[in-house]
Amino acid sequence: MEFAGFAEVCERLEALAGRLEMRDLIASMLPGLDDGELSVFIRFVQGRVFSDWSPMKLGIGPNLLYEAAAYVAGRRKSDVVRLVNETGDAGLAIEHVLERRQQSSFFSEPLSLAEVNALLTRIAEAAGPQSQQVKIRLLRQGFGSMTPREARYFARLVLAQLRIGIGEGTVRDAIAIAFEVDAGSVEHAQQALNDLGEVALLARSGAGALDRVSIVPFRPVRMMLAQQGTIAEQLADYGRVAVEYKYDGSRIQFHRVGRVCRIWSRRLEEVTGALPEVVESLDAAARGDVILDGEVVAVGPDGRPLPFQAVLRRFRRKHGVAAARDAVALVPRVFDCLYADGESLLDRPLVERRSRLEGLLDDDYLAPQEVLESEDGIRAVYARALGEGHEGVMLKLPDSPYTPGARGRAWVKIKPEAETLDLAVIGAEWGEGRRGGHFGSYLLAVQDGGRLLPVGKVATGITDEQLGELHDLFRDLVVAESGNAVTLEPQVVFEVGYAEIQESPNYASGYALRFPRFVRARDDKGIDEVEPLASLETRYRRQGSRDGGGPG
Ligand code: AMP
Repeated sequence: MEFAGFAEVCERLEALAGRLEMRDLIASMLPGLDDGELSVFIRFVQGRVFSDWSPMKLGIGPNLLYEAAAYVAGRRKSDVVRLVNETGDAGLAIEHVLERRQQSSFFSEPLSLAEVNALLTRIAEAAGPQSQQVKIRLLRQGFGSMTPREARYFARLVLAQLRIGIGEGTVRDAIAIAFEVDAGSVEHAQQALNDLGEVALLARSGAGALDRVSIVPFRPVRMMLAQQGTIAEQLADYGRVAVEYKYDGSRIQFHRVGRVCRIWSRRLEEVTGALPEVVESLDAAARGDVILDGEVVAVGPDGRPLPFQAVLRRFRRKHGVAAARDAVALVPRVFDCLYADGESLLDRPLVERRSRLEGLLDDDYLAPQEVLESEDGIRAVYARALGEGHEGVMLKLPDSPYTPGARGRAWVKIKPEAETLDLAVIGAEWGEGRRGGHFGSYLLAVQDGGRLLPVGKVATGITDEQLGELHDLFRDLVVAESGNAVTLEPQVVFEVGYAEIQESPNYASGYALRFPRFVRARDDKGIDEVEPLASLETRYRRQGSRDGGGPG
């Protein structure tokens, strides 16, 4: 497949509104692709260049991209930026600027999908002091060989925003239709492999190949997630629950085979180097080859947990790890086991995974768990958890399998401040007065089938110190600027408190937040973890029937 063909499919997808039509169009493309193209097509159509767990990063911000496009078009970077501001879309802006380039004939052969993939891989691999120059040279090469329409989608791919609204579920279903396999088998294989491109290749060779897929050490799987709920509801519907403390730290997945240990963060970034004492602790405490799931907490001299930010700072650190280690002690709290001695435990019930875990990990790092049936009993654990400085409790269903990446009632979180949302930051406005020179408020969005829909702005709750920190964080993410407002590349997630959700015609989500309040930047969460519109709607409906009675 030529990259031009891919761009054409994207354009057709962009014109479709319905999920099923998109699914069918993708499904119709897949059988005709050869093996090399299939996995690339699957990733690209989702707006991803690399698989989720891949350590590869392009390392290209909007500015570098505009510079390369401007060079190829024989224009100034400021011309591109102006067009981005006019269109609100880097892809369209670059397409326009290339349409007007002086030299209209192409000297090079059209690029294939595989060649564009190879080019992007080389961009990601460029390292060292000259890496920026190398990346920009490769980008110019790419734009130089593309039609304006190809450049539109190439630019969007580079910025990881294809804007065609294709979610993972749509692609999963398309694979099932294209290769006549069960959608459930595709999903199951995806949970273990964490790369739909590879899953598609297996689907092509038949259902048997999909069913044989298993989790393997050193390829991290997505973390199982929790949703909000209440003690009463869980007990009413399920009778008994396994209760654990909800630690206020950062998630880890620990893999060990023999004496080789590696750790990944919640966003599946490898953090082995940043957390040496966690590696040492778990290496000493675990028996056999394992994959463990847990939370890393920072502990102060009095044994009480330190704020979450202290943990995050350690996760980010690449240099001076030894000094940081002296300042903040990190302790793992392990609550699940996904793999033990050659065997995947994902499909085993929680109780069984738990007993395996107890057999292979010393108590020191094991998160305590009790299976309880009474509301009073659970409330007592909850009160104790808060008293000891933890965030709350987790209620887990004893019979539930481990479902990577899924958020459901199998794991429910109970915490006092339940009314917070994780939202994508998609824009900002310059501040005035005391906030002059910084962004003073941020535009927030929920997700819906791969699109981000605004739901309000937040300014309250940001301290002066945070104002500067956030400004630094967002400065390089500005995609477009218009008057007082900027559009930001959606990369950062804010946890935001609110008093109430209201219906509102002012925002594309159809909702607005009353008294939104900044709680913290969730560096440990990716944009795909942002609150879905459907669950915002559920919260909206629920608040009408809420009795205001705390975590009940
Ligand atoms: P939240 O980040 O609010 O969606 O809550 C889910 C997160 O709580 C998980 O991703 C873990 O990082 C964290 N957590 C803390 N304690 C536990 C526990 N006992 N079981 C599962 N997750 C936990």
